[in-house]
Amino acid sequence: MEYCPACKSEIQPNTDSCAICNHAFDTNIKSEWIKIGSIQDNISAGYAKETLESSKIPVVIISNSGMFGAAGLSLNPFHGEAQGLFDVSVPEEYAKEATEVLNMILGDSWTKKD
Ligand SMILES: [Zn+2]
Repeated sequence: MEYCPACKSEIQPNTDSCAICNHAFDTNIKSEWIKIGSIQDNISAGYAKETLESSKIPVVIISNSGMFGAAGLSLNPFHGEAQGLFDVSVPEEYAKEATEVLNMILGDSWTKKD
């Protein structure tokens, strides 16, 4: 059940304004993005992003050097620092599904967040 943040009335799902007080909802803010785990190499990170997007799961992958795909992204020459190089975040309601997809396609190549 969802409630209007302005007047606390019960609201119907998928409405964009409150029937009681006419408060407009920003549907983009409804989802809370959470980190579901880390990927240790950029090939797996790219594969994960592609696969999740083709499954219609919104995903953001952030590397230590900025957003995934940003210019200047390079392989870290210091292998000891490569742990958890890419953080994977999805909207909370997709976390379970995304985790299952990553388990399936990456196996041990990613680290699920506990
Ligand atoms: Zn309201």
